[in-house]
Amino acid sequence: MLPLLYMILRLLLREVAPGITLRDLAWRLYTEGAYAPPRSEAQFKMLVGLQRRIAESVVRGLSRIVPRMPYSQGNRKTGNIWSFDLPPILTCPYATFCGRPQRGGPICYDVNTARYSPQHLLREYINYIHLVRQGYQWLADWTKFVVELRGAKIVRFHVGGDVFADWYWQYIKRLAAEHPQVVFYLYTRSFPIVAASPDRPKNLKVLMSLDATNHAALRTYGQHFDHITYLVVGPNVDAQLPKLAETLQWAQQHGKRLIIFLQHTRRLQLLQKLKAYEKYICPQEAGKNVTCNKCRLCFT
Ligand code: SF4
Repeated sequence: MLPLLYMILRLLLREVAPGITLRDLAWRLYTEGAYAPPRSEAQFKMLVGLQRRIAESVVRGLSRIVPRMPYSQGNRKTGNIWSFDLPPILTCPYATFCGRPQRGGPICYDVNTARYSPQHLLREYINYIHLVRQGYQWLADWTKFVVELRGAKIVRFHVGGDVFADWYWQYIKRLAAEHPQVVFYLYTRSFPIVAASPDRPKNLKVLMSLDATNHAALRTYGQHFDHITYLVVGPNVDAQLPKLAETLQWAQQHGKRLIIFLQHTRRLQLLQKLKAYEKYICPQEAGKNVTCNKCRLCFT
């Protein structure tokens, strides 16, 4: 995990303008109140103006990489699902090989996104600073904004990042309790944090992210999760098949849904190898043209 953590820190310290790092810009935006939660669309517009002015005062043209809000609104893969993200690795205390460099790049796709999109990492880092410094109310007020004024109905936590501390886990549960009409969901490898305090509102779905290296945790912690996911990576698939079979058996015995994800760069090879598991593979990974918003397997 350390080399990749070093890589994220290096990305934060890369210059976005002469003498200005991404980290400097994030802190400048934070200290000048550029992400104070708005209570109306008019306030939001003023906030965006402030963000632009701050960035342009640092260096002309820099506003192009400044995010407008902590939440992101969906993409081609997810459809109309809002997400709240944190810096990968830095907030993933239980990362497995997903957080280590591999030949052909890291498995964690959010690290790859952070490498080519400074705006993406800037948003994640801004979120992290505010969470740690301003606490629950900041997150709650922004969530209220996207739910009440932007109509968010499904919120995913952590395309990037993970549940990094118990206090943050309590925030997520509290948010879900305050918005019972909204579905919240997250995938996590932070099993001990969830298991230490597993009670949660029904509209918060939590998926256990297994792979070949943390698979043994299933028996200890699996009962605390809504669904079980398993990430299959290559090239040594055969060695993983017994673990996958065991995971499926456990899931069936305990009435849990199993969803299989595949290493994207080897997707076609893995599909060939996993024919017997076809019906458990995420439809997108299987090449079907469906958004998460339509599929809903992960959060229903
Ligand atoms: S199983 Fe469905 S909801 Fe889950 S990631 Fe795949 S497409 Fe999205």
